[in-house]
Amino acid sequence: MYYNEKTMLYYDGKFQEASTASTGLYGQSLHYGYAVFEGIKSYKTKNGTKIFKAKEHYDRLKQSAELMMIPFDYSTEEMIDLTYKLLEMNNLGNAYIRPLVICSPNMSLSKGNKSSLVIEAWSWDNGYLSDHARIMTSSFERPNPKAFKIEAKASGHYVNSILASQEAKDKGFDEAMLLDGNGNVAESSGANIFYEKDSKLYTPAKGSILPGITRATMFEICDQLGIYYEEKFFKPEEMEGADAGFFCGTAAEVVALESLNNVPFKLKWENSVSALIQKAYRHLVFEEDYSYLKQELYV
Ligand code: PMP
Repeated sequence: MYYNEKTMLYYDGKFQEASTASTGLYGQSLHYGYAVFEGIKSYKTKNGTKIFKAKEHYDRLKQSAELMMIPFDYSTEEMIDLTYKLLEMNNLGNAYIRPLVICSPNMSLSKGNKSSLVIEAWSWDNGYLSDHARIMTSSFERPNPKAFKIEAKASGHYVNSILASQEAKDKGFDEAMLLDGNGNVAESSGANIFYEKDSKLYTPAKGSILPGITRATMFEICDQLGIYYEEKFFKPEEMEGADAGFFCGTAAEVVALESLNNVPFKLKWENSVSALIQKAYRHLVFEEDYSYLKQELYV
């Protein structure tokens, strides 16, 4: 599903065939989840294939490695170049790109000695979640920010995401919404969250979330379109039955939520300000102008 016998990936300083590339079984990354990664998308735009927010993603990968004390010396520019080469080699346009930094063999609980960069890519067809997602408050909290470097995109953190997402699916929901240690809304297993009330948008403040690049893009779009937004701490009860809600993330893009804990959002999605933001994001990733949406906001 992710590769075939022709697929190339980048690993250990060179491009190699995905089907024969291998790694050892004695590393901290495999044993302890001590690795950092990114999730990036490229889009086939009218100006050619473009990696959306490439700099922001690779800067975050470097920052994640630094926070985890993993030695890592690729520059952002180098990684962007390698990624465009990889996309071309695999003839990919609309692709999901997964860079991963893994550590060399070491079983001790000390910082990494040496790391390797892996870059994989495969075509995406929006397989994350479709609109009208029904979500529930998870019984799992987000990792305690005093126990983890929560702003790093570290592999081990995602064990928490797997538990929460699977719990929601087992209970018949599409996804989970996790709270922080104070009972405030934090985020989903792999996306940030917003809700809409009276044409204004609210999203959890930083602290127990991965402050997403898409979340920052939402702010950019709101600024462009003149939509009010606010970062704040709030309880799930405040979000239940609000006008609209959505998840946002690189893989998810903007996913409309239908209900939270079986309480439906009030507005028809098409009539929400959030739907305009979803449209704007789609235009932005394809390098299209979306300023016309400003008019739609006031009709
Ligand atoms: N939160 C978590 C836990 C995530 O895994 C992701 C996906 N990287 C996000 C938020 C959204 O981040 P971004 O918009 O940078 O993809």
